[in-house]
Amino acid sequence: PIYLDHCATTPVDERVFEAMRPYFTEVFGNAASSSHAFGQEAAAAVLRARNQVAALLGVEQDARTGAREIVFTSGATEANNLAIKGAAAASTGKGKHLITQVTEHKAVLETCQYLRDHQGYELTVLPVDRQGRVRPGDVKDAIRPDTVLVSLMWANNETGTLLPIREVGAICREHGVLLHTDATQAVGKVLIDLAADPVDLLSLSAHKFYGPKGVGALFVRRRDPHVRLVPQFHGGGHERGFRSGTLNVPGIVGLGVAADICREHLSDETARTASLRDRLEQTIQQAGGVAINGDPAGRLPNVCNLSFAGIRGDKLVAALDDVALSTGSACNSAGVEASHVLRAMGIDAQLAAQSIRLSVGRSTTIEQVDYVADKIVQVVTDLREQQTSYAV
Ligand code: PLP
Repeated sequence: PIYLDHCATTPVDERVFEAMRPYFTEVFGNAASSSHAFGQEAAAAVLRARNQVAALLGVEQDARTGAREIVFTSGATEANNLAIKGAAAASTGKGKHLITQVTEHKAVLETCQYLRDHQGYELTVLPVDRQGRVRPGDVKDAIRPDTVLVSLMWANNETGTLLPIREVGAICREHGVLLHTDATQAVGKVLIDLAADPVDLLSLSAHKFYGPKGVGALFVRRRDPHVRLVPQFHGGGHERGFRSGTLNVPGIVGLGVAADICREHLSDETARTASLRDRLEQTIQQAGGVAINGDPAGRLPNVCNLSFAGIRGDKLVAALDDVALSTGSACNSAGVEASHVLRAMGIDAQLAAQSIRLSVGRSTTIEQVDYVADKIVQVVTDLREQQTSYAV
């Protein structure tokens, strides 16, 4: 089968895997055990990875300690939880109001809702426009004296729409409110430069950019402002107290190397995946009745979300049995539920249920793209014909 679901996860790059390998069996020390060589070697590998992640994000490196603003976690879900719950708990002196927006990933939305429902916070969930963008003016209007945190994703995972992070960051700075961004889909695909970008907390996950699953990081700004967080895991005080727990050394090594490769190839990879995505999309449009969901002028280079008039996404996915892709709708036990992201963009439930997400990646070829595009045109045409013949 052909894999066009790189927004869900990516295969581990061979170079990443080879770099990780020794850290399972040979260099297996605990990075916190500095009294012997095993621990020291593991600690040196973690230090290197910390600087590699920092380099990808434009964060200050430190040759002696490793970048001090990178906190390793088990992935983006944990990083989002730590950022939001940790910042909220550290800021109760200022207030208990949080702002987010409606197309966030569940790891942000449900964390905010938990704080609202169980910890006495007030939550503003901002709407988006038809392209899935938040209006920066809405953020400005929502900020109150007791607002402690704005959480806004860098890029949406279903449509690839880029959100106005820099504009919102400037507004947050002006009002002295912290900005967290879930950049899980953006890291390694668009340029992020935290030396300039006005973001205080940023979540990322290795498995979205050819690193291993179950490892990620939270960037926590230490200067202007110095962000305070209440840890959510208590224990041995690892990660400068932000995240206790023995470090996943092989995973962290993999995250570092994956970040390094992305940094080195960011512009070529962006150009290459965008041209594959555009080629895919152009051919598919020959089927007619195809709508692009999201912001065609401001989205990730590697993803497209398409609706096909008259055809349910799950039917299309089932007919494309040798292609791995996602429907825009999440299936649950009650049946097909239209994506909360597409619905929030004002797309009606029927069209939302007619959507699929295709995401290309590092190993995708032109041949694969052409094969899938032709097949989609053919399957869509066939399904529409069947439907009209049933109708008569
Ligand atoms: N946030 C976004 C935008 C995502 O796309 C994902 C991945 O599914 C996550 C968070 C969760 O990341 P992780 O799998 O590392 O917990």
